[in-house]
Order: sequence, then C-alpha cells, then structure tokens
Amino acid sequence: MSNIIHAKNLTYTYPGDEDSPGYPALRGVDLDIEEGSFTAILGHNGSGKSTLAKILCMINAPDGGELTILGKDMTSPEITERDILDARRQIGMVFQNPDNQLVATIVEEDVAFGCENLGLPSAEIRRRVDEALDIVGMRKYARHAPHKLSGGQKQRIAIAGTIAMKRKCIIFDESTAMLDPKGRQEVMSTIERLNREEGITVLIITHHMNEAAMADRIIVLSEGTVLTEGTPGEVFGNPELLWSADLDVPQTTELLYKMRQAGYDVPLDIFDEEECARIIAEAMKKQQIRGNT
Ligand code: ADP
Ligand code: MG
Repeated sequence: MSNIIHAKNLTYTYPGDEDSPGYPALRGVDLDIEEGSFTAILGHNGSGKSTLAKILCMINAPDGGELTILGKDMTSPEITERDILDARRQIGMVFQNPDNQLVATIVEEDVAFGCENLGLPSAEIRRRVDEALDIVGMRKYARHAPHKLSGGQKQRIAIAGTIAMKRKCIIFDESTAMLDPKGRQEVMSTIERLNREEGITVLIITHHMNEAAMADRIIVLSEGTVLTEGTPGEVFGNPELLWSADLDVPQTTELLYKMRQAGYDVPLDIFDEEECARIIAEAMKKQQIRGNT
C-alpha cells in the first residue's frame, strides 16, 4: 500500500509580533499515513495536534521539513496554487463543534454545499448527497432543519458533506468531544464504516482512549514532536511512557497493569471490556490453583 501522506521533520511556528516571539507548535514531526488506514493522534492540550491537522489538509503551509501528499511534494518551489487546491480537495477535515460547520437551513442543502462550490452538475450533486446521507444513516432527515438535530446527528451531516466531496482522507479534530455518549458512539461507528467499507483514509484526534484503541495505528504527540507511535497494543503496552506525558491509557489497560503489579501474569493490550474481565478471572483462577497445590 502507498502512503497518502508522508512528512519528515515537519516544523511550524505561529508568527509572533513585536511583544512576543513566534510559537514553535511543531518542532520536527515525522509521519507516514498509509492509504486506507485508520490512525489516531493523541497528545495533551497544546501538543500541536490541531496545528498538524491543518498542515496535513493544507489549510496552513509548513515552514520546514518535507510534506508529500498523494505523491506530490508540497514543499517544492514548483508547487502551484492548483496543486494546493487539488490536495485540499483530497483531504477534508471535520471539526469539534457541530454548530460551526453547518451552513444551510435544510440538511440536504448543507450536504450539497461543498459539491456546489466544486461546480458539479446538479444531477451528480443529488446522487452524491443521497449516497452520503445513506452512508452516515441520515437519509430520512434529508429535508429536516439541521439545528433541530442532536449533536451526533449534526456531526454525521458534517461528515456527509465531506463524503459527498469524495475525499480520499478525512481528519477528525476532536469531532466527538462535544457529544454525549450516544452521539459519540454514532459518530465513531460512522467513522469506522467510512474506513472499513468505503476505504477512506481516516485520522482521528481524540482524548478518548477507547476511540484511539479502534485505530490501526496511534501517533502520540508531545510538545510538537512524536513521542511514540505504533499499533494500539504497542503504544498502550507501555503505559508508563503515556503517563509521563500526562496522558491516559484505556481503562482495561490500567486495570490489567494493576493486576500485573499485584503479580498476575496478564497482557496489557486488551481493549474489549468483556475480554478483559475474562482474562482477569482466568488469571485469578490460575493463581488460586497454584496457591492450593
Ligand atoms: P492541540 O490541538 O494539541 O491542543 P494546537 O495545535 O492547537 O494544540 O496548539 C499547539 C500550540 O500552538 C499551543 O501552545 C497553542 O497555544 C499554540 N497556538 C495554536 N494556535 C495558535 C495561533 N493561532 N497563534 C499562536 N499560537 C498558537
Ligand atoms: Mg486541538
């Protein structure tokens, strides 16, 4: 599989002014995102996640390092406005606040908005809007007013808008942060479907460790650089490193870690609660048998 995004030693400094120097939000980020993959980006507040996301979808240009998007070197002096627009069309973003992302007074018009800006023929827009609403499970709300929907439904409408534009990759910047548990679940299962069934490359920025555990790979940012990366098993298998960066680990990992400290032989990379409970019960039973003999 090829990389949809490749970045090496990426840097970005917010411009300062007379009173304050610029702030180096990214201090050398290396990253490879495979086409069709599902990646989670973790990091405490201010670690540079949103800055990185905006660079990866070309809202901001990096001020140093390499950035290749779909095989095109975006930092080359030969890059044109057209190339930048093309990259922006391939990589979309869904933000945190559902209310800030909806522009129209009827759901289907909202979903169509981006396609209209692309100047697509109306029959094609109609087809894409219906398909996108089907994918996010919101077809029956097509004629509804967006402001009457729940937070989770609004986010699914925002997602439908990006799907209709046929993005290859969608970056979700804390898109579940303002939702209740039901809304979070709706949005996460939509994201999972986009990736597994529609083949869209997905990056989620999240503070919820159970959401990160759903990804193929996790990248942990700290102070503008990559602290660690790997599969959820690899990253959460080293909880001390995450705790040192003031980050949490999934509840199951924390529980299994405590079991280990108490002398039980259990793995740390189990994220399903039922499986975790079964493993703990088994480990305790084994210990008991050993104690009795
Ligand atoms: P995160 O999304 O991980 O919370 P951000 O990427 O938003 O972090 O911010 C990284 C750092 O850059 C923070 O210290 C933040 O204060 C700073 N920063 C973010 N946006 C701006 C801006 N527009 N101007 C100056 N500094 C900024
Ligand atoms: Mg942020």
